[in-house]
Amino acid sequence: MNKPTDQTLEALGAIVGPRGLVTGLDLLTPWETDWRGRYTGKALAMVLPATTAEVSAVVRLCAQRGVPIVPQGGNSGMSGGATPDASGREVILSTRRMNAIEPIDPASRQVTCEAGVVLQTLHEAAEAHGLRFPLTLGGKGSATVGGLISTNAGGTQVLRHGVMRAQVLGLEAVLPDGRIFSALTPLRKDNRGFDLKQMFIGSEGTLGIVTAATLRLVPAIAERVVVWAGTASIHAARALLLNCEQALGDALEGFEVVPQGCLESVLAYLPDARPPLARPHAWNALIEVVADAGSAASLRGRVEAAMARAFDQGLVEDAVLSASEAQAEAFWTLRESISAAERARGPAMQHDISVPVERMPDFLVTVSREIEAAWPGTRAVGYGHLGDGNIHFHVGAPAGSDRAGWEAGDGKAISRQVHDAVTRCGGSISAEHGIGQLKIDELERLGDPVALHLMRAVKRALDPAELFNPGKLVTLAPETSAP
Ligand SMILES: Cc1cc2nc3c(=O)[nH]c(=O)nc-3n(C[C@H](O)[C@H](O)[C@H](O)COP(=O)(O)OP(=O)(O)OC[C@H]3O[C@@H](n4cnc5c(N)ncnc54)[C@H](O)[C@@H]3O)c2cc1C
Repeated sequence: MNKPTDQTLEALGAIVGPRGLVTGLDLLTPWETDWRGRYTGKALAMVLPATTAEVSAVVRLCAQRGVPIVPQGGNSGMSGGATPDASGREVILSTRRMNAIEPIDPASRQVTCEAGVVLQTLHEAAEAHGLRFPLTLGGKGSATVGGLISTNAGGTQVLRHGVMRAQVLGLEAVLPDGRIFSALTPLRKDNRGFDLKQMFIGSEGTLGIVTAATLRLVPAIAERVVVWAGTASIHAARALLLNCEQALGDALEGFEVVPQGCLESVLAYLPDARPPLARPHAWNALIEVVADAGSAASLRGRVEAAMARAFDQGLVEDAVLSASEAQAEAFWTLRESISAAERARGPAMQHDISVPVERMPDFLVTVSREIEAAWPGTRAVGYGHLGDGNIHFHVGAPAGSDRAGWEAGDGKAISRQVHDAVTRCGGSISAEHGIGQLKIDELERLGDPVALHLMRAVKRALDPAELFNPGKLVTLAPETSAP
């Protein structure tokens, strides 16, 4: 007589076929650890359905047998949301085989695709039709449409185009009982009651498995100029942002900040990379300015004028405008390599925070100083999306620290201090990476009790047995009383 787990694996195999079931240790291991290497679990198996019908059948089977499911796309998430626990009971449901893109109709400027489509592939498909999917991020070679939707990802173009939620016109998802919620509508207006698709955007696989989406596209860029500007302080960088917003309006697509310490990490990490400016500056701003066909001719002149004004006002110490696409890409490679370069430096507590944009410079200066004074030997750096008030604030461990011990002790206390400061500023402890397992305790500690109660009510209604991504974002731990 087979063990119940063997029977479950057999039944899963019967649904998805031999290519759709992975149980071998060697093949499973890379998918049991998160991108940052902070969490490692042990899965019963990885199941890779090829269609929505297969996802539905897998979910029904798991629901009958009480098997928890961890949805996984590209496993590039930053909060441990796609990593199974250590029980060996959970099944990873990977969308990697669901990677079809329907034919794009350029006139309607939208695309319908399956959840496992990788962001880079989506960019290329849109470009082939003279269009653009207006969201990008450093993990674009791995991140999938389903993962981007489930984390409501941000990235480097939010300033102009908004987060993932703003790109989703319709979606399809499999519910925890196996039913299919089908709302792949391209409609731009639809007021038939609650906008239920929103529930799945940013819910980190706790309410449904996203299987497909209809996404908006925008016209391709005719011209872009990328500026690398050195500034003396984060306050000057913020003033430069205001100047650029005024001078460049809608053409301003991205405004990222990189402190000198992060640039040095990247230059050490990428041996062939070169610093864009002749000498170091305390802060660097990476500014992306774009134009469509109608205004391409005047773009460079407008950017040069904006930078000249910023020089005159003492906001910029030095700056270089990309002279070619290759140079523009080289600037972006420096920015997009920061996560990997910082990871290579050793243990660090990462905080993905937002505060009102105008408060960010003071926040960074004050909190960095307080943390480094209170925890000798630590190194606090903030980099990223200043344009939309979202900074990745990393605190590196003192040299020679034991990773696990430091993270569980001083590291945890540091995170609480950072999150308390964010909360005092009216900010968010998760601007774009989601809660996952990384911040579930902190959300419980600092979240609005009414909001937490509502989230549990939704979870209870859809997934009372907590089989969808248990231990991530929201759990049904008993509430003593309704707030
Ligand atoms: C170098 C680098 C730079 C990055 N930069 C940014 C950035 O600028 N902005 C940003 O927001 N993020 C960034 N990220 C994080 C990451 O790329 C995003 O969170 C992305 O959305 C994750 O997509 P994924 O397919 O890898 O999802 P995964 O990591 O596989 O999963 C993430 C979460 O979504 C759930 N999930 C995945 N697929 C589905 C599905 N089909 N249905 C339901 N739930 C699902 C998982 O259970 C998990 O909770 C970066 C990552 C890297 C490695």
